[in-house]
Amino acid sequence: MQNVSKEIFLNSLECLTLGWLTRSGQFQKTRAMGNMFRMEQGIKVGRIAQKLYPEGILVDEQDMESASMKTKSLMNNPKISTIFEGAFISDGFSTRADILKRKDNNWHMIEVKSGVKDKADFINDMAYTTMVIELSGFNVYKDTVMLISKDFRSGMKNESLFIEIDHTGDVFDRVYEFKRVFKQIKKLTKMPEKPDPFLQFECRRCQIFKECMGKGIDNHIFDIPRLSKSTFDELIESNIICIEDIPDESPLIQSQDIVRVCVQTKKPFVSDDLKEILESILWPAYYLDFEAVTTAIPLYPNIAPYDQIPTQYSIHKCSKPDFITDHFEYLADPRKDCRRELAKNLNNDLKGEGSIIVYSNFEKRIITGLSRLCPDLSEELDLLVDRLIDLEAIIRKNFYHPDFKGSTSIKRTLPVLVPDMSYNGLEISDGDSAMAVFAYLALDKYEYEKAEAIKKRLLDYCKQDTLAMVKLHKRLIEYL
Ligand code: SF4
Repeated sequence: MQNVSKEIFLNSLECLTLGWLTRSGQFQKTRAMGNMFRMEQGIKVGRIAQKLYPEGILVDEQDMESASMKTKSLMNNPKISTIFEGAFISDGFSTRADILKRKDNNWHMIEVKSGVKDKADFINDMAYTTMVIELSGFNVYKDTVMLISKDFRSGMKNESLFIEIDHTGDVFDRVYEFKRVFKQIKKLTKMPEKPDPFLQFECRRCQIFKECMGKGIDNHIFDIPRLSKSTFDELIESNIICIEDIPDESPLIQSQDIVRVCVQTKKPFVSDDLKEILESILWPAYYLDFEAVTTAIPLYPNIAPYDQIPTQYSIHKCSKPDFITDHFEYLADPRKDCRRELAKNLNNDLKGEGSIIVYSNFEKRIITGLSRLCPDLSEELDLLVDRLIDLEAIIRKNFYHPDFKGSTSIKRTLPVLVPDMSYNGLEISDGDSAMAVFAYLALDKYEYEKAEAIKKRLLDYCKQDTLAMVKLHKRLIEYL
């Protein structure tokens, strides 16, 4: 019989159906290139953490039964002071601990995370592992989390990569709460039949919502932007789960009610201000998009972990809507930090007075960061910021299409408004993958020919983003 893992246990706390599906293997997360890269970074960070304890013994058995037997024998050997990836199975619950350090017959558990932020979820993770270790007959006296230090720079010693935070008190409190419910969860997750799912507020963030409570429902109330728990409860009390069924006298605020009316009338909403806003755009306009790379272990000197490093941009220049007169692009040499060169080229390519159209706040943050980094270029860069126009913010406030399903991201608005344009034919078709392949280029993971082909795909992807904005803008104007 399958053991209850940390994931199953924690999912069950949120929703029994989700816990059951995790257990039965019906819930498979897809692993795109970006996710794969993040996972590899996590493994790399874990290995560096282990190097801080040269006396440590790694339990490298993948099979949980043999791994737990080896762990038990190591823990019962007083000569062993540190164990990596210790495995535990007790009463059908299983877990692995990143690092365990002995103090007499008690253990200090260290959870290694590859992020810089201390998160509330970590307490749950550590509490679950601590609980299973204790159920296995060993005593944990201390729980700490090792996070990546923002002060680390490449070239520093491994010790400087981490900061350690003591969460013993919070973890022990949570272990106490878990112990009260674990028998109940064990019983429920091992039931042969899936428990009947029911709609709850937590479903809105569930990764299998579309296959579970959202299945077959076209305009679910979760498509209402910024739906609060109290509004959700009110709608559910009236047995309303579809936007179509919400009455005119609804608890929705004005911006949410626009979505309701759009869905019910099947007509887009166009604000009275949209015309004036779009007419204020100065031509020639420049459509700008950046890509950036962020890594746990910095790729270049003098960069902090998880700093966002712009790596490329695309600019479409138009003399009037959908009338492209020029295209500029830049892709950094992955072997070095090219932010200064990128900033210089950017100033050059965006010379003029026309509006710079972007989609989200990201480009503003990147240009502001470049301005801080290169004080001698900051005057020109700051002028670029003054010319920015965020097309997504304009859409969010002034336009809604019944098929937007509550989102104004370009991946949602483009297929609705410009259905003949898509990212399907592109080999790199999302920002996460673009970031991952750039990092692999920087880490010299590809042969020369493959690297050159990938650089072309990166340029194609970024170019598609700015072309998408050109087409979206034109389509919006057609609604006026
Ligand atoms: S959609 Fe809701 S009921 Fe279904 S598994 Fe997710 S959280 Fe549970």
